[in-house]
Amino acid sequence: MYKIVANWKMYLDVQNSRNLAGHFVKWLEKNGCSELEFTICPSNVALWDVARQLEGSGALLGAQDIARSLQLGAFTAQTAGTQLKEAGCSEVIIGHSEVRQFLGDTDEIVAQKMQTALAHNLIPIVCIGETKEEKASGQTDAIVTQQLHTIFQDQTLNTEIIIAYEPRWAISSVSGGAVCSPEDAAHMHQLIEHTLHEFGNEEQVKKTKILYGGSVTSENIVSYLNEPRIDGTLIGGASAKQEKFQEIVRILLDTYCL
Ligand code: PEP
Repeated sequence: MYKIVANWKMYLDVQNSRNLAGHFVKWLEKNGCSELEFTICPSNVALWDVARQLEGSGALLGAQDIARSLQLGAFTAQTAGTQLKEAGCSEVIIGHSEVRQFLGDTDEIVAQKMQTALAHNLIPIVCIGETKEEKASGQTDAIVTQQLHTIFQDQTLNTEIIIAYEPRWAISSVSGGAVCSPEDAAHMHQLIEHTLHEFGNEEQVKKTKILYGGSVTSENIVSYLNEPRIDGTLIGGASAKQEKFQEIVRILLDTYCL
């Protein structure tokens, strides 16, 4: 089963989030199937409304970040795991490149947030990936391996965790058209899979989904999913625009659900 995560970032106001979620559910209703699992990650202020729209559709609700603290408390502007659960989330994106860039999250903080998510029974979608400079200096493999070591430390893969490989230079809002080819993405997914063996047995590694994210569109999504060990995609910009998202959903349904 392929996993498709829509990260709506801060692209949509609440009303448009509600509307897009409503449309999305209708596209699924016509032709849903068990080969695809969708997670919609709207802004926090839209979580409750989007949850209501998704009810009964089989699609899951995710948040875009979580506070480090296990408990509620004096953490202005942050959102606790219990609050995300109350809103209906079952998953949460952690370590997104924009959270790293604008809010300063490090791999150490990502590791803490992952533990907090797990403690609240939220499935973490852990983002890793190299910057443009790291790629240019040939450090891609080393950086991604190091990120996994720092984030997983003593964690074993005895619980569901999703990894999203998102080369930071390929995110559509900053890429200037640069894309990571499906073959290069597949190479990284194999490296990630190989590294995961340090944290779990064969079966646990196999169960750990590795998503690709970075400028995924309706034109290229199938070529990524066709590669070995690309178990799904995390889609930003193209998932927040109605026509583009509809086309992606249509192609996925036509390709995998006939
Ligand atoms: C993202 O921000 O997670 C992402 C994959 O963005 P985009 O699809 O716009 O490159």
